[in-house]
Amino acid sequence: MVVGVWWPGLGAEAWLIAFREARLRVLVTDPVDERLIRILESHGLEVDYRPGVAREELLKLVPGYDILVVRSRTKVDREVIEAGRRLRLIARAGVGLDNIDVEYAVKRGVTVVNAPGAAAQSVAELTIGLMIAAARLFKAHIVALEKGEWSKGRWRGVELAGKTLLVVGLGRIGLRVARMAKCLGMRVVGYDVVDAAAERAREAGVEFTRDLRGALREADVVTLHVPLTRDTYHMINRETLEEMKEGVIIVNTARGPVIDTRALLEYLEKGKVFAAALDVLEHEPPREEWEWRLVRHPRVIVTPHIGAETREARARVAEETAYAILEALGLR
Ligand code: NAD
Repeated sequence: MVVGVWWPGLGAEAWLIAFREARLRVLVTDPVDERLIRILESHGLEVDYRPGVAREELLKLVPGYDILVVRSRTKVDREVIEAGRRLRLIARAGVGLDNIDVEYAVKRGVTVVNAPGAAAQSVAELTIGLMIAAARLFKAHIVALEKGEWSKGRWRGVELAGKTLLVVGLGRIGLRVARMAKCLGMRVVGYDVVDAAAERAREAGVEFTRDLRGALREADVVTLHVPLTRDTYHMINRETLEEMKEGVIIVNTARGPVIDTRALLEYLEKGKVFAAALDVLEHEPPREEWEWRLVRHPRVIVTPHIGAETREARARVAEETAYAILEALGLR
């Protein structure tokens, strides 16, 4: 998906000719499937693969490149965009654009592309897996077993069939999760801010609401699938947790800061939240002592942001990103 395009002072055609004549230089700063590099190179682009490059090094390198390819680790803020004097395109090999200052990039005439649909199935499957794992307290039992303790009977989980699942954000991933959860016999309610989502819900046979607070009060399980924006930052917080049902389960495979995780830990420790499953955290990896307390909590299962870490999703992300770059350059 092309997010924004503007070529200051140069007609699009002249820009394309200039690009075709000069060999375009691409800097890749996060680990990507080799397919992405192969496709770009087979279209005449020169690719430098520097996964894990430190920020200081990135600031030194970026002035020499036309295209920057990142995943979620590399923060492409104003400073990086300004340092990239030659930059014409930033590609996010994945979905979320919260690590890129898109507004500033577009203002500077830099196109931003991503691969919006490529990981949806993998993330949805992980979400359902985490939801079941949380409901049945896998983590507590696995940890006990690893210590040599046969923990049967010590903790009892809950069934999902017949329970109400609130899907917050009924986009590509949320809608898939909603459909899968219906197959588990759950009552599924979707919440979203756009009209198109109401239509998507109707087609999928999912109830739709615009009343988030009311839906949070009714839900047995809440799963988050919204992008990280000013509106969704700490969308789940002390106030909303206070209003939720006793014994609620919370699943987050979207972005860590959508939940005030310190508040979540408090409500887990109080026993109001039955269990939580998180693929994303506010800091990845965790920094603070309380964050590690959350990770180690027996009723919390944490995976290290592996939503898109399947062979299939990585291959699709690589291809979708490479073709989005080529399309934005007019090379395809
Ligand atoms: P999407 O854009 O298809 O869907 C997001 C939905 O959220 C849209 O329908 C949008 O209208 C809705 N939304 C936006 N703001 C909202 C708000 N304030 N309240 C309610 N709804 C709101 O995105 P997607 O591909 O389904 O991705 C969803 C999330 O999953 C994103 O945060 C993305 O970064 C994350 N993600 C995580 C992983 C992972 O590895 N865990 C991988 C891919 C995507």
